[in-house]
Amino acid sequence: MSTNDVTEYSVMCPCGAGTVTFLESIPDHAFARESQREYSAQIDCSECRLNFVVHQQSFGEGKKPTIVSREQVEARKAAAALHDATALELFKSPESKRLSRAISDLVDNEPTMAARHRLLRRLGVIYETLPTFRKRPIGGSEAVSRLGAAGLMRLGCLSEFGGGDTEFFIEASRELAELKGAVQSIPLEAVKLSPMSS
Ligand SMILES: [Zn+2]
Repeated sequence: MSTNDVTEYSVMCPCGAGTVTFLESIPDHAFARESQREYSAQIDCSECRLNFVVHQQSFGEGKKPTIVSREQVEARKAAAALHDATALELFKSPESKRLSRAISDLVDNEPTMAARHRLLRRLGVIYETLPTFRKRPIGGSEAVSRLGAAGLMRLGCLSEFGGGDTEFFIEASRELAELKGAVQSIPLEAVKLSPMSS
């Protein structure tokens, strides 16, 4: 049976009336790798749970949880939702539909697999080598869906693809970049937590 080596420690919560508990666990055997170390945290104070949340990513340094203000997290979510809704709207515009169809046809009309592979790499849709691509090739409609709104807008800015709609795509790209910037400009600051006074 496998067990975990668990470390647990508590610090004072932001309001000072309760605690925040951090847990670290790693498989309890000699071959355990550092990458197998798991982290978690919980806010033990009901008051602080209203105003703060545990923030954690699934990889790298981000695996270590921090406590951030709920307000910041929600502001970020709202900004991200606005970006996504705008991207979807732009993706469904007549200009995008024309461009999608044109790109899809270009891909599907390439006479050989090698030519299709070359085109898809030029479009920034795939990065794999030809032998890998041959094992799992994709067609025009899949290429468009992988491009997504941002990729499509990017290609539309080039007169080669955007044709008479280039201005539209330049404006759309600018708008999406601005909305993305707005998301990133909202900080997610780790709240400084003090050790327990004993
Ligand atoms: Zn508290």
